[in-house]
Amino acid sequence: MNDTHESVTTTTVYGTPVVPGVAYAPAAWTRRPPMPPQTAPELAEAERADAVKDFDTATQAVADGLFQRASAADGHAAEVLTVTASLATDRAWKREATGRILKGTPPVQATMAATAKFISLFEKAGGLMEERTTDLRDVRDRVIAHLQGQPEPGIPVVDHPVVLLADDLSPADTAGLRPELYVAIATQVGGPTSHTSIIARQLGIPCIVAARELAEIPDGAPVLVDAHEGTLTLGVDEGDALAAVAEDAQRVALIRQWRGPARTADGVPVQLLANVQDGAGARAAAEGQAEGVGLFRTELLFLDTPVEPSVESQADSYAPVFQAFPTSKVVVRTLDAGSDKPVPFATLSEEFNPALGVRGIRTTGHNEALLINQLDAVAEAAKTQPGTDVWVMAPMVSTLPEAEWFTGLAHDRGLKAGIMIEVPSAVILIDQFLQIVDFVSIGTNDLTQYTMAADRMSPHLAEYTDPWQPAVLELIARTAREGLHQDKPVGVCGEAAADPLLACVLTGMGITSLSMATNAIPPVGAQLSQVTLEQCRSAATAVHGARDAKDARNRARGALGLA
Ligand code: PEP
Ligand code: MG
Repeated sequence: MNDTHESVTTTTVYGTPVVPGVAYAPAAWTRRPPMPPQTAPELAEAERADAVKDFDTATQAVADGLFQRASAADGHAAEVLTVTASLATDRAWKREATGRILKGTPPVQATMAATAKFISLFEKAGGLMEERTTDLRDVRDRVIAHLQGQPEPGIPVVDHPVVLLADDLSPADTAGLRPELYVAIATQVGGPTSHTSIIARQLGIPCIVAARELAEIPDGAPVLVDAHEGTLTLGVDEGDALAAVAEDAQRVALIRQWRGPARTADGVPVQLLANVQDGAGARAAAEGQAEGVGLFRTELLFLDTPVEPSVESQADSYAPVFQAFPTSKVVVRTLDAGSDKPVPFATLSEEFNPALGVRGIRTTGHNEALLINQLDAVAEAAKTQPGTDVWVMAPMVSTLPEAEWFTGLAHDRGLKAGIMIEVPSAVILIDQFLQIVDFVSIGTNDLTQYTMAADRMSPHLAEYTDPWQPAVLELIARTAREGLHQDKPVGVCGEAAADPLLACVLTGMGITSLSMATNAIPPVGAQLSQVTLEQCRSAATAVHGARDAKDARNRARGALGLA
């Protein structure tokens, strides 16, 4: 969109903001080389053995390069690079390509064909396997570059700060990005829960995804990124841009200084909790500013576990999380197996539409012993930490009998019982659900997916999978209202809680706790410290009636005096 103001013409591109911040630097595009043709003349018999050797050398070089980067990185970056490196030496994929080369397909085309076959298999499997397709494409491009004697594709190597632009970024691209050089990221596709967003959030790099018109920004052009608003603007006066960056730097300084527990500017406490998946994550949360755990995703402990672990072994896995918070609240979510989180011993293998299939509490409904064993294990682990306030909640609950069944089992074991609000049916009947359970926690990732009928994994639907969608905000507000009415806690533990602006709106709606990735806590806490409860309430009122997600954001900013 073009805008003329005091004879300066600016061009603004809009996207979905996922990590707030402001940056001004030249744009640097990450481009993938064009794909070679899918077919090429057949290799002579005598050339085939050497061609297989070339393919092996190329895959090994790609794997070595990625493993080397993995050993120089740490934490999540190292994990991501190791996973991608292992794909480059995956036996089944290599066998597929080698078989084709031995039949006469040149190595480049064999690499493309083998990858296409595996992508289609992964897409059929869905969930986490489907997410692996980005890594597989990345490995394919790197191997092809080696075969063609070209440098491997990837993010541009720079020695000065840039705004990194891309159609989409692969996990290997983003692992280990240095925030002082890549001062902002914008992608044409992707969504708030896509890989790029998760990495950017971890590294604290301002990030915008789903910027459809991103191609309008030329390589090298200075661009002002406002990842509060979701805009990239060309042609901004340099002085104005630097002033905007300086103003944002104050916000960053505030975040660095912020210490919990969280309070609004007028001193009202807001409970900020961490989302964790194991003892190490819980310990990191306890060392940070988390007041407890609002979502312990137990299924993530078992993504590679073929057989259901015994009650004792499960208890051993849960206890370290309780130990990390010896006097605080820990909300354990029972297995959310299925769909994007397949657990081998709990998930049905063949489902046409797994997101609408046997997932969450439905898995345990098919096999009651799974839930009973897990609750026994949680109760067992809780006994080892009597000071920890252990709550349990069930995912994907959509009917009242499910909630009654779960609550009965949890209460029998002396555990406080809740459900996640992820399915619109749970909001429609929220008054009845709240009469059954002790608390609820809104999973905005799934609530948005099911309300908007938009796959949360789709890189093409970011506008729909945005928790600022007015319909989603209405459902959250309704749930919060009923919680206040019945005096029962209503938390939020989806990605929405990690958005500082939305956190103010949720607080204004009457949400009683916000749970998020540990490193999202300081930005949320710092933002809350700048606004009063009354302003939060005005923001909650202001978003009512918004026509789309952008309008809702603008209304909230206006009500909070941030416009
Ligand atoms: C959610 O759906 O918002 C949620 C917190 O659960 P998960 O992201 O693990 O599905
Ligand atoms: Mg969910």
